[in-house]
Amino acid sequence: MQTNFSAAQLADPHVAESETILRKCVHCGFCTATCPTYVTLGNELDSPRGRIYLIKDMLENGRAADKEIVTHIDRCLSCLACMTTCPSGVNYMHLVDHARAHIEETYRRPLLDRLTRAALAFVLPYPSRFRAGLRLARFGRPFISLFEKLPALKPVAAMLKLAPSSIPSASPLASPGVHAGRGAKRGRVAILTGCAQSVLDPAINEATISLLTRLGVEVVVPEGEGCCGALVHHMGREDQALVSARRNVDAWTRAVDQGGLDAIIITASGCGTTIKDYGFMLRLNPAYAEKAARVSALAKDITEYLSALDLPEPVRKPGTIVAYHSACSMQHGQKITRQPKELLARAGFVVREPREGHLCCGSAGTYNILQSEISAKLRDRKVRNIEATGASVVATGNIGCITQIASAASLPVVHTIKLLDWAYGGPKPEGVSDSGLIAAE
Ligand code: SF4
Ligand code: SF4
Repeated sequence: MQTNFSAAQLADPHVAESETILRKCVHCGFCTATCPTYVTLGNELDSPRGRIYLIKDMLENGRAADKEIVTHIDRCLSCLACMTTCPSGVNYMHLVDHARAHIEETYRRPLLDRLTRAALAFVLPYPSRFRAGLRLARFGRPFISLFEKLPALKPVAAMLKLAPSSIPSASPLASPGVHAGRGAKRGRVAILTGCAQSVLDPAINEATISLLTRLGVEVVVPEGEGCCGALVHHMGREDQALVSARRNVDAWTRAVDQGGLDAIIITASGCGTTIKDYGFMLRLNPAYAEKAARVSALAKDITEYLSALDLPEPVRKPGTIVAYHSACSMQHGQKITRQPKELLARAGFVVREPREGHLCCGSAGTYNILQSEISAKLRDRKVRNIEATGASVVATGNIGCITQIASAASLPVVHTIKLLDWAYGGPKPEGVSDSGLIAAE
């Protein structure tokens, strides 16, 4: 694609980066076929190619964002299916991240939209605030249908619908400390305890720590780590995202200095995509660029790490039929496609893949709150495809997908690591049937 940026514009490294990305696009439109919003809405401006044109026009002309571009960029899930499809290697992720930061800087949203976004950015990344927010949600639940009738309050209705009716207790394992591996030491890793996931389902990290330590891996929960910044990054709140990134880089660098790390284990693929991008996000900060690149290189999804370990035979072979839902951040963001399915199959599960596996479930960070109608359409499509597999449980590696799919599915939705932990001697995940158990302990 030909571009027309001035030398002065290109002096801004963010613009220069976006120009390089734009020049790679050859307008072929292959990406439109796999874009969930184009497939759902059928509007070229809600396709990757359409959005790329809108972003190019805005940046080239040095214009403030307007209502049209905000509408179409807000509808983008950042699912990155377009990056998997693109034959020219267009880095849509960095382009849309830049566009979102530009929108945040130059566009004044309507008051209620601003308040909703500010509330999400204030609450979601902080476990204690999120927990308090979920407790308060029960007072708002009786008003869901009223809020749904008022367009400006639809995000509030969506939040209340997603809030679970009971909140598990915080896990003691999430506190900073070291969990020693059993037997001969096979490695040393740090684990990201995370923000929303640690509140909604603390058993995910408990299963991870339990399985890793049984396998002889020492697990460190470093002092000072917190939200990865993905939630606010996707809202264009660049400064807040970079504060989170720098804090985590510091925490993990200290853990490396104190005893070395083989990996930083991440159990939410949405976080994994962002942490693997810290090197890029902090590239212009001389004090952090190198450390951040090192952290990104150490970041591993739990299934990536387990695949590289020499695993023993499972304790039990559950025989359960599992529909594996590959989160967009797993398959498109991190290109992890094979490992979770292979680990499940090796552990004795029968793995089935739903049709249209490349399409997003509509969760996408805060998308299911801010774009609830498109999100619900994508969720229902995803659930239909999952239920058609005949599986009795859904496995996936991202808390956002778990919450989203579970809100409409008739079968349990669990994190992949809980199934693996069960097969290798841990407890059976809640709601999962063991009727197919084919090997005794
Ligand atoms: S990130 Fe997803 S929703 Fe956004 S343009 Fe690409 S394919 Fe479409
Ligand atoms: S597939 Fe790639 S090169 Fe083709 S229009 Fe989409 S982004 Fe551009």
